[in-house]
Amino acid sequence: MAIAGENRLVLVDSVGNPLLRLNQAGLDVNQISDIIVTHFHPDHVSGLPLLLMDLWLIGRATPLNIHGLHYTIDRVESMMALYNWSDWPQFFPVTFARLPEAEMVQVLDSSEFRILASPVKHMIPNIGLRIEFKKNNMVMAYSCDTEPCAEVIRLANGADLLIHEASGESVGHSSAQQAGQVATRAEAGRLCLIHYPSGRYATGDPLVEARQSYQGDILLAKDFMIFDFNLNAAAADLGREFSGWISNNRPSGNLQEP
Ligand SMILES: [Zn+2]
Repeated sequence: MAIAGENRLVLVDSVGNPLLRLNQAGLDVNQISDIIVTHFHPDHVSGLPLLLMDLWLIGRATPLNIHGLHYTIDRVESMMALYNWSDWPQFFPVTFARLPEAEMVQVLDSSEFRILASPVKHMIPNIGLRIEFKKNNMVMAYSCDTEPCAEVIRLANGADLLIHEASGESVGHSSAQQAGQVATRAEAGRLCLIHYPSGRYATGDPLVEARQSYQGDILLAKDFMIFDFNLNAAAADLGREFSGWISNNRPSGNLQEP
């Protein structure tokens, strides 16, 4: 996930081939100012060494900030040490910001948005995020990988959009129905389900499951989806470009990706 503003381009986690994917998304990788690493699981962090190497190879000189919990950053540093990155000639400056494991810790504050983090309930230390957009006071929350917990409800309190994982009910994860419960308790305006079983691993219909516990609009996250928070209009306009939202008065439609 990338949070793109005029002055800051913030990447949340890094997997696969990030340079390729960011190019596909139409984002300039040279503009990345910050990377937030939520937790040290391969499906959230394995692309980081490749991204750092690629940025170096294309000639980056500007500093990069990497934010995460002590547990996470310690392991990121160990991982990079295995690649012997200290010997990469003229490598650009990287600053590590170690976040305390406390609620509503400010990760960064730019002219356009403020990002806060809280610990969530996963198998290893992990953070969820709350992004507050200053232009219109809109809020987006991201649960990351977690069991339902009060911290996410508080992160998403009154949010216009909650992006919540729906891996299935298990240790350290949530079902779509549980994600709906969290969205209801947080009084979130919209719910976007992410990290759900898909393709041949799909089980049931996450939208139907979440509907059992949440009455607002629900959407399944897809690659390259865009949410525009640079709006003057009310929160009701959020995601209007998607026909994939299912709401009480509108049946599920086909997703139209921008
Ligand atoms: Zn995880």
